[in-house]
Amino acid sequence: MKFSDAVLTWFNKQGRKHFPWQQDKTPYRVWISEIMLQQTQVTTVIPFYLRFMESFPTVIDLANADEDLVLHHWTGLGYYARAHNLQKAAKIIRDQYNGEFPTNIDEVIALPGIGRSTAGAILSLSLNQHHPILDGNVKRVLARCFMTPGYPGQASFDKALWQHSEQLTPMFGVANFNQAMMDLGATVCTRTKPKCVDCPLADLCAAHKNQVQTDFPGKKPKKVKPIKQTIMVMFTNKDSVFMYKRPASGIWGGLWSFYEISSIDELNQLAEKLGFVINNKQKLAGFRHTFSHFHLDITPLQVEISQSNTIINDNEQQLWYHLEHGANIGLAASSKTLLTLLAKQAV
Ligand code: SF4
Repeated sequence: MKFSDAVLTWFNKQGRKHFPWQQDKTPYRVWISEIMLQQTQVTTVIPFYLRFMESFPTVIDLANADEDLVLHHWTGLGYYARAHNLQKAAKIIRDQYNGEFPTNIDEVIALPGIGRSTAGAILSLSLNQHHPILDGNVKRVLARCFMTPGYPGQASFDKALWQHSEQLTPMFGVANFNQAMMDLGATVCTRTKPKCVDCPLADLCAAHKNQVQTDFPGKKPKKVKPIKQTIMVMFTNKDSVFMYKRPASGIWGGLWSFYEISSIDELNQLAEKLGFVINNKQKLAGFRHTFSHFHLDITPLQVEISQSNTIINDNEQQLWYHLEHGANIGLAASSKTLLTLLAKQAV
């Protein structure tokens, strides 16, 4: 059987068709789901997606929303640059496209945070436009079917797979075909234990024929990540803890965090700068946060203050975060862990 026929027949019988973003399909709704799914499993994404859509039902709502509220809806999904890019793109759509999601693939690719595969997925899934896709799941299926040498991100590997995807994507039924390819990668042709007996491509798959499925795709040669250290200072006063909003660029850009020092000797200087009088201090259990390029070993330092001369000014981007009532703000991943540690201390 032809590749695309095998995939489409499988999709009709077994494809997943009931996710929230598969109902009432619009480019906007598909776009949000694609960005969320880039980083997280479907089951985790569903509640985030439903909440996001309830708060920002249209691209205009997203464009006009307070940045902190958007980041708050993203807390728990990680990779905040994607949330920043979503809102940046929404503003461009509002200002340059009258609030209508563009339907030309080059215009979609030009939006922040949308690559060729995501643009193809948005336009094919929502409008049935004829575009190939190549996300991580599809890469794995194709690399195995054709025993393509190399690893994801390597130019020659990606180029070869784009060519396969272009040739295999059928003229008709593109939406179902693309959805099916992503589903096959996610549910059948899984990373470590592909279920070849359930796979509609088993007869066409070179890796299956040669029983070398898990050798494809190849792995990127590993680089050892450097380890950085930091001390995060949680100034507490009664039921609140002092936080500041990080600059828009850099790690955890635009998210609320704690002041950092590189050694305990810097604490007094920081307290003085903020107008705090230190009462007591204690180190809490340290933990590691891993970024794509380095590990960050975090030592939390809880510093109780007895007096504060700090005047909170909105422009200063600082706040006292109430430990029980919280606030609708986007928290850096480390802040969530640190707040949990503080809550445990309070028990
Ligand atoms: S036959 Fe196996 S390895 Fe090949 S595409 Fe299907 S699940 Fe993946």
